[in-house]
Amino acid sequence: MKKHPWKNLDKLKNAVRGKKIILFGPPGSGKGNRSRDLEALGLVHVSSGIALRAAVKDDPESDLSKNAASYMEQGALVPDEIIVPIIMEHLSQEKCQTNGFILDGFPRTQAQAEALFSKIKIDLALYLDVPRKFLVFGIIEGNRRVCVECATGYSDFDLPHIEGVCDKCGGKLVTRADDHIETIEKRLKLYDEQTKPFLPYIKVKTALEILPITLRDEEDIDEKYLKTLKGQVYWVETDQGVKARMLNLEGMRERLYNLLAEKFL
Ligand SMILES: [Zn+2]
Repeated sequence: MKKHPWKNLDKLKNAVRGKKIILFGPPGSGKGNRSRDLEALGLVHVSSGIALRAAVKDDPESDLSKNAASYMEQGALVPDEIIVPIIMEHLSQEKCQTNGFILDGFPRTQAQAEALFSKIKIDLALYLDVPRKFLVFGIIEGNRRVCVECATGYSDFDLPHIEGVCDKCGGKLVTRADDHIETIEKRLKLYDEQTKPFLPYIKVKTALEILPITLRDEEDIDEKYLKTLKGQVYWVETDQGVKARMLNLEGMRERLYNLLAEKFL
């Protein structure tokens, strides 16, 4: 990894101001944490959940809100005809237009992608490339937990400074009820069927950059950027069947900021 091409944070913030970025990756690939890193640069974090809650709060009596609320209460995926207009309206708000935004977990389907690209020029799509083995076993092995307030994710690979407490906001950390192997596999399958197939379409519509979590063998790196488990550097089998080291939260932030600096500075 190159050493700090972005070393001036204010310069980087200025360079990404107003940029419109979408974030892709399978469940468990760290979209929440990367969103937080981008938010720290001044971009507005938008996800389906954030836009839905804002719409319901804004105008609880509208048909759209009532409909959306009923899906949310059931914990069901909100259908395109409800979520698409809500997201579009959210993105057209001045704070998103001026500061730029990071769209996390949307578009999820080809229809959503077409709706988005027909209305908004996206500057960059980031794909979080995480080995399948880690997505399936790492989440369980690492005892993943999430902040109830800001949704930052932690695990035994990326420990919080104080157990049970979010480093960023002091919120309580909880294990997600759906973090067990069957639901993870189900979510991955849904991703493979619905989302992954339209990545080539995204590539046609905007600049698509891959952000891998693994390191090449020969890559020389400070150990503070590596995922460790119980004090040992953790090795994962990649989708190509080779063993590789992985970046931790800090390492991924570094890699992300480097990429943004190369792209926009
Ligand atoms: Zn938090």
